[in-house]
Amino acid sequence: MNTRPEPSMNNELFVLEHAKLRAFAFAVLGDWPDVGGIDGMIMQDIAEGAGLLIKKQRFAPCGEGCNCADAIGSDAAEWAAGVDCFRLADFVKAKP
Ligand SMILES: [Zn+2]
Repeated sequence: MNTRPEPSMNNELFVLEHAKLRAFAFAVLGDWPDVGGIDGMIMQDIAEGAGLLIKKQRFAPCGEGCNCADAIGSDAAEWAAGVDCFRLADFVKAKP
């Protein structure tokens, strides 16, 4: 069942998501054509700042195949200190 509302500029959620996507696009392409190469960590910061990536602190892997599990592996000391796990916001993953 699709619980997402139909996109409409009169829909508050859609307007918020649209603003986040525009903020991301402007941060990435605002200096076009002088954008150069974008490092993955910078892309992560831009996406988090725009609300497209959600950071959650984890003390154990989220699950098999999660990016935090892949990045940290089985390093118990790192897990004990807390690991930042970044996941796409639900609206980014939703089918258009
Ligand atoms: Zn994770």
